[in-house]
Amino acid sequence: MNLRFSGAAGSVTGSKTVIEVDKEKYLVDYGLYQGASEDRSRNWASFHGASEISAVFLTHAHIDHSGLLPRLWKDGFRGKIYSTRETFNLCRILLADSAMIHDEDARHANEKQYSRHKPALPLYTSYEVENVLSLFETVDFEKEIRISEKVSITFFWAGHILGSSFIRLRCHDEQDNEKTLVFSGDIGHKRNILLKEPSLLCQMDYLILESTYGKKLHSRIPAKEVLGMYLNTILKRSGVAIIPSFSVGRTQDIIYLIRELIDEKQIPEVPVVLDSPLSKKANAVFNECFCADQIKDDIIKDGTIYPVTMQEIESVKESKQLSETQGPMIIISASGMIEGGRVINHIKSRIEDKNNGIILVGYQPEGTKGRILLDGEKILRLHKEELRVNASIFNVNTLSAHGDYLDLISWIRDSKINPKLIILNHGEPEDSRHFKDLIESQLGFKTTVASFGEEFNLDHIY
Ligand SMILES: [Zn+2]
Repeated sequence: MNLRFSGAAGSVTGSKTVIEVDKEKYLVDYGLYQGASEDRSRNWASFHGASEISAVFLTHAHIDHSGLLPRLWKDGFRGKIYSTRETFNLCRILLADSAMIHDEDARHANEKQYSRHKPALPLYTSYEVENVLSLFETVDFEKEIRISEKVSITFFWAGHILGSSFIRLRCHDEQDNEKTLVFSGDIGHKRNILLKEPSLLCQMDYLILESTYGKKLHSRIPAKEVLGMYLNTILKRSGVAIIPSFSVGRTQDIIYLIRELIDEKQIPEVPVVLDSPLSKKANAVFNECFCADQIKDDIIKDGTIYPVTMQEIESVKESKQLSETQGPMIIISASGMIEGGRVINHIKSRIEDKNNGIILVGYQPEGTKGRILLDGEKILRLHKEELRVNASIFNVNTLSAHGDYLDLISWIRDSKINPKLIILNHGEPEDSRHFKDLIESQLGFKTTVASFGEEFNLDHIY
């Protein structure tokens, strides 16, 4: 039995792990590399032997876990993709959106002639997306499914985004010995705004565990308090608060926090406008599965996450009109890092007025417009226009869909497991190393950090 770490090893994007059991090959996740251009160039590499992969087990819909599946289809994969129903529903909207972005990127590269390839082609199109979506087979949580004579899988709730799961594989090796592997995918935590905490781990021989926050801790100050304070500052001067937000997960968190702030009269009852077609679709998926399996009981009791003054707008005309509407008002729009989407126009029309404010609510990597604002730059270039940053810039850094190392350590401890080996992936090298030392010293489990391309032969080494 073999494991190969073909992505998200030494980095946090491009998740993909190959498992070979008795000559059958499977993949856990097939995600897109994001961030630095040397990482992104890996997205173009073909998967040799894609047609020999029997199935993909998909932990969740985030693009760094699912975003290369259309390329896998293009490379010849025709097996099944197993995921939860919500993961499939989110993949439908996220992969379609991803194809649109790749198409725009290629068109832009051709117009500006900056690509080495003539003509520049998109990484994939809606054609590959439609084809790969037809390979999905949805599964229920905690229901074991037999994939072959040698392999059974079970999905468990991971508390990270809707539909997110960690996956247990029960495999029989050539000598017919049973071995159990658990792939964590991304794991949430107890402080998540809307989602229930992750299920406890089941017993396993090998745990393949994410380590995104292996060296960092999230602030424990409630996000509602911080958001309320910033919103009040902007709204009291009749300004417009613009919240650039990620469509899946973060936008629903923000909408609900604003609802609570208005209901508790902690902020004035002002119009709240969501202007992002993708976020609107993500809200629809959220509404569809508004049930007790994944969402916290208090939220279910409330019956909705929407503030009374909430409007979702769709057309370009409405979006343009919104840019001219007077405050006080809250606008939520994508993208969360101000790298594209309708939020660009809202920022362009509001950033030079000191009464307005921009509230960042997620991680802002180097090189993004969000990071430029966070770093306190006084000039922002958008669409070749130089804009003076007169609006207030605020940052709510207490929201994260990932558990930090303290969350993960207590999750493992509460689960009372006894793995033979923990293999860490999905982390920057420093985070993974720190987390390895911590697991070994606090829990006493043998732990190793997977490097890119590393193979583990589980028959002979352990
Ligand atoms: Zn994720």
